[in-house]
Amino acid sequence: MNALPFLLAPPLGYVGYAWGAHLLTLGCAWRGPRSRRRIALSFDDGPDPEFTPRVLGLLERAGVRGTFFLLGERAARAPDVVRALAAAGHEVGNHTWSHRNLWTCGPRRTESEIRRAHELLAELAGRPPALFRPPWGAVNVAMFGVLRRLHARCVFWSIQPEGLRPVGAATQAARVVRRAYPGAIVDLHDAEGTRAAPARLIAALPPMLDGLRERGYTFATVGELLADA
Ligand SMILES: [Zn+2]
Repeated sequence: MNALPFLLAPPLGYVGYAWGAHLLTLGCAWRGPRSRRRIALSFDDGPDPEFTPRVLGLLERAGVRGTFFLLGERAARAPDVVRALAAAGHEVGNHTWSHRNLWTCGPRRTESEIRRAHELLAELAGRPPALFRPPWGAVNVAMFGVLRRLHARCVFWSIQPEGLRPVGAATQAARVVRRAYPGAIVDLHDAEGTRAAPARLIAALPPMLDGLRERGYTFATVGELLADA
């Protein structure tokens, strides 16, 4: 008997479950419609008890509302920051409970990572998060089913000024301003992921906001941007 099909089935199944699922991301949002000169700033990995309130202060001073993709685990440790953020009119999105890479999660773990954060954020923000951003942009097949049941939409980003390698605040601001286009979703980090990312963000945000304004941009939440599509 040829054992090859039995040996290949699990790895091929995994490839389909994790990497093959990326074909399904063609239906996800990477940007909003290009028609209006609007742009959305999104902030991942918070809430951070020190840095998120400082980001909120900078946004408030500039009259800008952002979209925060929060981790359930961190929201549980800083519930007041989530309440303040929602009360100030910012959009709350789900970024899983513990920032697990969904490539390493089976269907049950995927469901609990997303649902647990969804329920806590709904309670703290006063409404269920309508948007979900997978950590590192890594998706699996199970994620799509969970999001459909929760009526949440998968959202990526179109401009990422800082990848895995840290980038100075001035460069970050300049990159966003230079790469900006109508409907773009900018991916920023207001909590520790890449080393010292939130401190660089605090310095980058004011020149970034000024530069975008000078180029004629106004700001929307990711939800508002997508509602125009
Ligand atoms: Zn993240």
